[in-house]
Amino acid sequence: MQIGDFTVEQLSEGFFELFKDGSFSKMDPSRLKNPGNDPSLGKSTSALGIDPLLIRRNQTNIIVDPGLGWGLDKNSRYQDTSNVVTNLDIFGLTRNDIDLVILSHLHFDHAAGSTFVSEDFRTTPTFPNAEYLAHRKEWDYALKQVGQPKKHPGAGYNLDELYKLAAEKRIQFIDDEVFEPINGLTLIKTGGHTPGHLVVKLKSRNTAAYFMGDLIPTEYHLNHYPMKLIDFDSVQAKKAKILLLKQAYKENAIMLFYHSLYKKAGKLVQDKHDKYVLVDP
Ligand SMILES: [Zn+2]
Repeated sequence: MQIGDFTVEQLSEGFFELFKDGSFSKMDPSRLKNPGNDPSLGKSTSALGIDPLLIRRNQTNIIVDPGLGWGLDKNSRYQDTSNVVTNLDIFGLTRNDIDLVILSHLHFDHAAGSTFVSEDFRTTPTFPNAEYLAHRKEWDYALKQVGQPKKHPGAGYNLDELYKLAAEKRIQFIDDEVFEPINGLTLIKTGGHTPGHLVVKLKSRNTAAYFMGDLIPTEYHLNHYPMKLIDFDSVQAKKAKILLLKQAYKENAIMLFYHSLYKKAGKLVQDKHDKYVLVDP
C-alpha cells in the first residue's frame, strides 16, 4: 500500500495461539472457521496474527517490529515458519538491505526477530546494516523485569538476544517524547501498554498512517479503551488511544495493526453511536 512516497507492506508470519502464560504456538487456521466449537480458543487462549511492517522509500528500507523470529536459527524447530527474512525475500530484499529497525516495545513477540543464533552459536543481528531504535524508558523497565514474576498476562520480555545488540551499541535508545528518525516518519511515545511503548506515524503528501503496536493490537480493540489486564498503565493507555484515534480520524489516516487475524489495515469511520469502525483503505 502507498502512503504518499512510502510503500508499506505487512509481512504476515501467520496465525498463532497465545496462552495465558504468555507462550505462543503456531495455529492451524482452519480452527478459526468454527471458533465457537473450539474447547480452548477464546476461552483459555486467544488467536492472533503477527505482522511486522516493511516501509520503503527510495533506497531506504525500514522494519517496524521484526516479529517472533521463529525459524531464523539454523537449529530452530520452526523451519517452516514464515519469518521476517523469508518474507523480505518476497520483495527481493535480504536482511542486509534493511537500514532501520524500529521496536514499538520490547515484548518478545515484537522484538525477538531482532537477532538470531548463528550456526556457530553466536547471537547475530538479523539486520547487520541497520540501526535499531527503541525508547530508553522501555529498555530501563525491561531490565528491571528480568527475574521478576510477570505482572501482566500476554507476552513478556526475553532480553537474552537484545543484550548483545545493546552492548554493541546497535540499538539507539531514544529519550524524546516525539522523534523523527527520517523525514515523514515519527515515533510517538505513548507508554500505556509498556512504559516506553512507541506508535509509528507516517506522513507524506497529505496522506497519514499510524502503526499502533500493542496500544491497539487489532481492529477489535478500537473501542476497547481500558485493557487493564494487559496494559502496564491502563489510564495512560486509554488517554493515548483516545487522542491518537481522534487525530487519525481527523487526518483520514490508515491504521495498521500488528496482531489482527483478518482486517490488518483500514481507515476509521464512526457509527451512529460514535464508535469507530474500520473500513477498507
Ligand atoms: Zn506487547
